[in-house]
Amino acid sequence: MKNLITKFLNLEPDDIQNIDVFSQDNQVFARITLTKKFYTCPKCGIPTKRIHDYNQRTISHAILDGIDTTIVYNQRRYFCPSCKKSFIEDSPFVHIGKRISKYTVLRIMKELKNPRMTFSMVASNCHVSVSSVMRVFDEYVGIPTRPLPTILCIDEVYTVKYTQKVYACVLVDFQSNEIYDLLPSRKKHDLANHFTKIDKKYRDQVLYVSIDMWEPYRDIARLYFKNAKVCVDNFHVVKLINYAFTKVRIQVMRQYDVDSDEYYLLKKFSWLLNMKYDDIDLHRRIHIHKNISYFFSKDVLAIDILNFLLNCDCELEIAYALKEAYNDINKRCNSETIEVALNRFIEDMIIFNIEEFNSVVSTFKNWKQEIINSFDIIDHRRISNGPIESVNSRIKLIKRNANGYRNFIRFRKRVLYSLNKNSFINF
Ligand SMILES: [Zn+2]
Repeated sequence: MKNLITKFLNLEPDDIQNIDVFSQDNQVFARITLTKKFYTCPKCGIPTKRIHDYNQRTISHAILDGIDTTIVYNQRRYFCPSCKKSFIEDSPFVHIGKRISKYTVLRIMKELKNPRMTFSMVASNCHVSVSSVMRVFDEYVGIPTRPLPTILCIDEVYTVKYTQKVYACVLVDFQSNEIYDLLPSRKKHDLANHFTKIDKKYRDQVLYVSIDMWEPYRDIARLYFKNAKVCVDNFHVVKLINYAFTKVRIQVMRQYDVDSDEYYLLKKFSWLLNMKYDDIDLHRRIHIHKNISYFFSKDVLAIDILNFLLNCDCELEIAYALKEAYNDINKRCNSETIEVALNRFIEDMIIFNIEEFNSVVSTFKNWKQEIINSFDIIDHRRISNGPIESVNSRIKLIKRNANGYRNFIRFRKRVLYSLNKNSFINF
């Protein structure tokens, strides 16, 4: 045990004059006195070995899992006979005035790197209080400032408790997948405040800004990133169409009796309708639990179920064709062909005039240029908010520990520290 403690204290055996290890009430104590040696007086530069006094300090030292280890450090104070000043000896295992050893600080910071670890979990592992862990985090967290990315993705993350503003705004570098920053609000004037502070020279280097269809983001992008093409994230566009399609399906379903085959199949096999047509294995046999008079057997081909559903209603069939037409555009179009295809798609929606698609038409008209821009390819992939999806799920892990984040500044730092590769321990 003595050797182990010596090793984890960052000491050589020669450094120690006396070490005495004992346990009491499930706690291990190591009483340590360092070897006496010559010191140069920091005031006048005269070497001295004269002792002034000793000061006993207790220091938390979490080296062993499950065992609360405390150092009782007999810290020596030297005396300079020349200028009569006294000064304390150097300690290799604890910073001046701290009650937590350097090793423990490192361990706390390493554990906090994992987004799954809450402040209280780390506190319990390291046998210190939750407020100590927060204090260590605030003091030692290192977040380097990074340049604005060339392709900036903006999206929101739903936040709780620490502020009235319900959404925080997350800014991600499309190419590195690293978080550029986390802002406490997605409101236009708050974003404007933030970007005003960044030099125009750097803002002008941003070439793309990818957003969802939140109007203030587009205003901000146009105002502050003059050289950037604004793109809307394709996932949000597809979601809009799928939502309209689902509304049509539900409306058709409700025209049928609850006990009817149509109602049953439209409800039970909504997933088949929602799937991209190209992804369906049409000749797969699907077991239907209910007796459907239309089918001869209970094991029916996917294509037969799909045809049955689409035959239920003419509007449903058109809505399905529109949904698939957009999937097709996504699959086949590039930055050269998208404009013509998109115009035709909008025309089709207008001609077929399905009520549920009216809002899709106006949204497409409003965001047409941004949809077209999102077909640009960078690093072999379309510009999107894809990188934000994975970041958001990890931010949610951190957010679960809401008790520690009444303070947004700390929440932001924890996110940047745990999720970005270039964060460090400011030791
Ligand atoms: Zn002196």
